[in-house]
Amino acid sequence: MSTRRPVGSHTPTSGGLARAALPYVDATGSQVVQVYVANSRGWALPAGDPAQDALFADGCATRGVPVYIHASLLVNLGSPTPATVEKSTQTLAHALRRGRAIGARGVVFHAGSAVDAGYAETALRQVRESLLPLLDETTASGGPLLLVEPSAGGGRSLASRVEHLGPYLDAVDRHPGLGVCFDTCHAWAAGHDLAAEGGMTATLDTLVATVGADRLKLIHANDSKDLCGSTRDRHENIGKGSIGEPAFAELMAHPATAGIPVVVETPSDRHEGHATDIATLTRLHP
Ligand SMILES: [Zn+2]
Repeated sequence: MSTRRPVGSHTPTSGGLARAALPYVDATGSQVVQVYVANSRGWALPAGDPAQDALFADGCATRGVPVYIHASLLVNLGSPTPATVEKSTQTLAHALRRGRAIGARGVVFHAGSAVDAGYAETALRQVRESLLPLLDETTASGGPLLLVEPSAGGGRSLASRVEHLGPYLDAVDRHPGLGVCFDTCHAWAAGHDLAAEGGMTATLDTLVATVGADRLKLIHANDSKDLCGSTRDRHENIGKGSIGEPAFAELMAHPATAGIPVVVETPSDRHEGHATDIATLTRLHP
């Protein structure tokens, strides 16, 4: 496997998947692309436009740009509200179907939260019941992986610190269809001191010790507007926030990130913020 870490951005799609996203990929210099396939703050499950799907998949393949989907931010498999768990499961099934249609490698979803005190054990059982059928199906069909992303913490998160991924993966018997997406802003918010010298390296070491060698599949590189441990999830441009550029140099040099795509989800006025962040991370690449 190549050790090159392709860098790209979360990419807008309004106006058509191919029509909107491909020019954005070119304008930002993205070598990897992440998109929503539904409203990020809604439950609607729109059918794709087959013509746009094909143009987008072909355009990304031609450019050698791997594709990832971010599922709706409302997804919470740990919710004590049954209707939320049901809609979350359907949303992930939809994202996997859409992922197969556009050749996506992975579908990212947030680890979720138990919301109520004392609900964590039940919540992880729900995670198991919802995910196992989806994981079996997508693995059998050669479809995208599901990628769990630890959250910023607070609200009885099921996984925010990287050590919490151990019980989460255990809940699905460490199924090979479930990978991990590591978000730097979330880890910082959850209390990992990435800004200390060696802090990013130590956090990634702990991640690998917890999840194993081949489980990390995607990185969200985001600086933060807030302090370490704040549990707040406000992304900032790379090197402009409280995490700072040296931590991202450690990220881009860590052996665990070799060959793993890196996506920025940072503020961007049109495409300029993303283009700058992609250039910064590429410059930090050893
Ligand atoms: Zn993220």
